[in-house]
Amino acid sequence: MADILIVEDEAAIRQILTMHLTLVGHAVREAEDAAAARGMIAQRAPDLALLDVMLPGEDGFSLGKTLIEMDVPVLFVTAKTGVPDRVRGLTMGAQDYILKPFEPAELLARVENILRRTRREEQTLVSGALRIDFSARRVQLRGEDVPLTALEFDLLAMLARRRNVAMSREELLGGVWGYDYAGETRTVDVHVQRLRSKIGAEYIETVYKYGYRFCGGRGE
Ligand code: CA
Repeated sequence: MADILIVEDEAAIRQILTMHLTLVGHAVREAEDAAAARGMIAQRAPDLALLDVMLPGEDGFSLGKTLIEMDVPVLFVTAKTGVPDRVRGLTMGAQDYILKPFEPAELLARVENILRRTRREEQTLVSGALRIDFSARRVQLRGEDVPLTALEFDLLAMLARRRNVAMSREELLGGVWGYDYAGETRTVDVHVQRLRSKIGAEYIETVYKYGYRFCGGRGE
């Protein structure tokens, strides 16, 4: 999940962008012009900004320059088809651009690409008494090390990195065991049970007829 800022003066396009990004689990903030966006950025820098170029008042390029200087990845969403504008955005340091009208699938693919390239991965996550150190592959409960197998750790890390988002058994099986793994989704259930017996049942919720969700937590 990423914190994404959308700056777009057309309400209908803003709604479409927000709908597609929230559906895949991102948190979205919306601004209709650069002034409103600057107020939001002052509160908290987003993980990614989707900027319309043609805005009333200060234009998207000008706002983009500030964001790029702050190290915020920028994706320009522009109706302009002229090559100079596209080149201008990229030479300014924007990560990418997409032309309106866009296909939702293309938009999401570009967003995920940028996030994958630029995300500063969290080192640790704390949820209640549980602490996960992703790079050290270490899990502690109330300050005590919890011995996990490599698979158990991978499963927990995959769920925790997308905390509060439901993940299907197939997704988990593919991500942890590999997509060529011939096992059954029941394997996921067995390992979740083992994880719960080691870290406590409250961290991993069952999502009925779907899969699992890691609850709570904050990154550090
Ligand atoms: Ca516009």
